[in-house]
Amino acid sequence: MLSNFLQKQQYNCVRNFTSRSAERIVKQQLQEIRNAGTWKAERIINTQQSALIGVEGTYNKVLNFCANNYLGLSNSPELMQAAKDTIDSHGLGLSSVRFICGTQNIHKKLESMIAKFHRMEDTILYSSCFDANGGLFEGFVDPVKSKVAILSDALNHASIIDGIRLSGKAKRYRYNHIDMKDLENKLIQAQDQEVRIITTDGVFSMDGDVAPIEKICDLAERYDSVVMVDESHATGFFGKTGRGASEFCNVLDRVDLINSTLGKALGGSSGGFTVGKKCYIDMLRQRSRPYLFSNTLAPAVVGASIKVFDILLKSTELRDQLEKNTLYFREKMTKAGFDILAGEHPIIPIMLYEGKLANEFADEMLKRGIYVIGFSYPVVPKGEARIRVQISAGHTKEQLDKAIDAFVEVGKLKGCLKK
Ligand code: PLP
Repeated sequence: MLSNFLQKQQYNCVRNFTSRSAERIVKQQLQEIRNAGTWKAERIINTQQSALIGVEGTYNKVLNFCANNYLGLSNSPELMQAAKDTIDSHGLGLSSVRFICGTQNIHKKLESMIAKFHRMEDTILYSSCFDANGGLFEGFVDPVKSKVAILSDALNHASIIDGIRLSGKAKRYRYNHIDMKDLENKLIQAQDQEVRIITTDGVFSMDGDVAPIEKICDLAERYDSVVMVDESHATGFFGKTGRGASEFCNVLDRVDLINSTLGKALGGSSGGFTVGKKCYIDMLRQRSRPYLFSNTLAPAVVGASIKVFDILLKSTELRDQLEKNTLYFREKMTKAGFDILAGEHPIIPIMLYEGKLANEFADEMLKRGIYVIGFSYPVVPKGEARIRVQISAGHTKEQLDKAIDAFVEVGKLKGCLKK
């Protein structure tokens, strides 16, 4: 009895001691984040995701120009109905990973539709593209049995960087952003490895710039390398038929592996995938840890995603509308005198350069009913603060005009229009 009591006392003592130290240290570190001005706060939306949203703390609805809702499908009645129907037919979830008892006919159907869309051999689904990237590099070839080199663009997404970190024995090379000379040098250095994989974002999310995938494929052929492109900011809408940056660069048939997300243009819920040659996908099903050790994709998400690919395989109407909206916004804003990074992508960086100005600009925009976000260091390099606008096929011309008018008004107020 007594020893039980003493043991409990000792346990409580240790627990309190560790939690008190941790709390003090964590609180101090949180304060440092606040002091550095890099605290990330969340605005709370109380409606569905859409071009027009309700935001807590604002009286009227505001126009949303900062979602990855490129095709305007995040609250599509057709997709929401497909999700509801799939809950009815296939339930809430599988309570299992894929290879134990987590694969339904709809998962196989979605995988084959994605492969058909990308004109590839097979697909493997993940709970997110973060997981797809996390599971790729260690998974697609065994780096213990074979000598592997991974060559990665310096500005690749965090999930690619983390995936490479998990690649164990693979030799890692980071080439300067879209610098083909540097990539070639690194490929030459990597010739002593048996397998080389070049990995790049198709479209880089901060600038909306496109990777030179054609040149990457040329180098891959010359130096016997696999090419993997992350098409998260391109699948469904970029390129003539929405097949992504690989299509935009005319190399659809030369890219070996594509990773992408179901959580942006394709309905905006969640989920990711790797699509490519069957042997690579077969290997990922054997070795990829987020696939082997994480729950299967929820049926509602799968049902809605099947509907998305159904739509995309039949028509380019939505991506055509998005292209039209993007051109219109880019043209009008450039004419108005804003400094905009050139390009054709619906990510449109309005360059303001100073972080404080970018934040104040975004606040003024919200007062005028336009929801945009200022990006500053460390999210973008020092001195390159901006407002990142994201255009959607769901924006009407009136909504685009309202945003442009607000930009011009605030631009004049803040003195950031070119004469
Ligand atoms: N890859 C890129 C290029 C991204 O921009 C993102 C999301 O921000 C991801 C991967 C992760 O996608 P998901 O939200 O499906 O995890």
